[in-house]
Amino acid sequence: MDTPLRTRFAPSPTGHLHIGNARTAIMNWLFTRHGRGRFVLRIEDTDRDRSTEASETAILEDLRWLGLDWDEGPQEGGDYGPYRQSERTALYAEEVNRLRDTDHLYPCYCTAEELEARRKAMLDRGESAHYDGRCRRLTQEEKRRFENEGRRPAFRFRVTQEEAVFEDVIKGQIAFQSENIGDFIVVRPDGMPMYNFACVVDDHHMHISHVIRGDDHVSNTPRQVLLYQAFGWEHPAFAHIPMILGKDHQRLSKRHGATSVAQYRESGYLPEALVNFLSLLSWSSESGDEILSIDRLVREFNFGRVSKSAAVFDVEKLDWMNGVYIRGLDVDRLAEMILPEMKKAGYPVSSQEEARTMASLFHDKLEKLSQIREKAKILFQEDVDPEDDEAKEMLNLPEAEPVFAAFLKAMASTDPWNAETFKNILKTVQSETGIKGKHLWMPIRVALTGQVHGPDLPRVAEILGYDTCRKFLKKALQYKKG
Ligand code: GLU
Repeated sequence: MDTPLRTRFAPSPTGHLHIGNARTAIMNWLFTRHGRGRFVLRIEDTDRDRSTEASETAILEDLRWLGLDWDEGPQEGGDYGPYRQSERTALYAEEVNRLRDTDHLYPCYCTAEELEARRKAMLDRGESAHYDGRCRRLTQEEKRRFENEGRRPAFRFRVTQEEAVFEDVIKGQIAFQSENIGDFIVVRPDGMPMYNFACVVDDHHMHISHVIRGDDHVSNTPRQVLLYQAFGWEHPAFAHIPMILGKDHQRLSKRHGATSVAQYRESGYLPEALVNFLSLLSWSSESGDEILSIDRLVREFNFGRVSKSAAVFDVEKLDWMNGVYIRGLDVDRLAEMILPEMKKAGYPVSSQEEARTMASLFHDKLEKLSQIREKAKILFQEDVDPEDDEAKEMLNLPEAEPVFAAFLKAMASTDPWNAETFKNILKTVQSETGIKGKHLWMPIRVALTGQVHGPDLPRVAEILGYDTCRKFLKKALQYKKG
């Protein structure tokens, strides 16, 4: 019988969910849902100094916001828990003993300073830095002496093979020479397990069939493979996803802009757009389509189409994609989403109904939800000035003055004031002045909003209201003279 498909995402709760880790989570999730397997969430919090509860909460919240779910985890439970490494120390201690009993581990008393000095010396000699095996063959006498000095040992794994080889699902065969690995620490002097050891013990005991992670972990995998061999366990399949680069082809970092999911959420990206975009970093649909719903991603995702080379994070493409997703929202959902943005901007919009009006007005004008704050500004101005030279030019057109005068006159006898009657006034002004097209409505647009581009003008005029429009047009009429 085939091994059941089980994957895991294993974040360390030491900060925000990074965009690269989010992509790792997404690919794990897509692969698992595609294969109808089980997705496990494991919290790797053995670094007690850097792990925080707040970080764990934030990471889980970001994953949920992205629309991911998992079948086993710290809150959900499951057959192979607990799912926080800090709660699994008894198991690690048991497995450490097993490796000690089979002579795969030895105590190492070297201090951090000693190790650092020898590491430097190795690098100076042009060698690759690895543990030099100093404590490999300590006599009982030497061990006793160190213990008496008050030193507490770490435990190192004794690397005996010439090389560690594994088959990567994406990259093919990968081989590491042991001399470049060196005997590595599995347990710190305080008894806390190191990442490689805890990871192997957990992946084994949680019956993980596929380890899918970023390729910054490729150099850890040979160590993990050696541990599996020492335990006599079969190792899972490994898939290392190529890294994400900025547009300058350097590793994606803060220098390139936002790197955490939380930042994208706050600047008004939709989770569906972000998931779609991140899925397409190093993977593509056979159809060549770029806008892919979650259902399609789940249906189509496979490692055969994950490329070996690094992906470039193109934020302009993400913006474009986000715009497509915003346009695909129904107006009520968009209204719900922009309401908090309007409140943040301090606009007097409090009801869903008012937000709906804004949503329908700006529906096709947004690439990010947060842009509504800037774009909706035109609806709440006390005073209007042309915003740039192009706008000023419209107020300086020879047609501007007669248009404003005729408009104000026609307005005086118009009741009620709404988008329809606004259009009728424009018709009247056109027949009275003989001015039409751009020269007719551009001055009006600039007079009412200060801008040459914007949403549907009759509706803007209706929202601004009769008195405000009158005030702004009168001011524009004075513009040339001023
Ligand atoms: N806690 C590790 C990390 O966040 C997990 C690596 C792995 O997936 O094995 O990078």
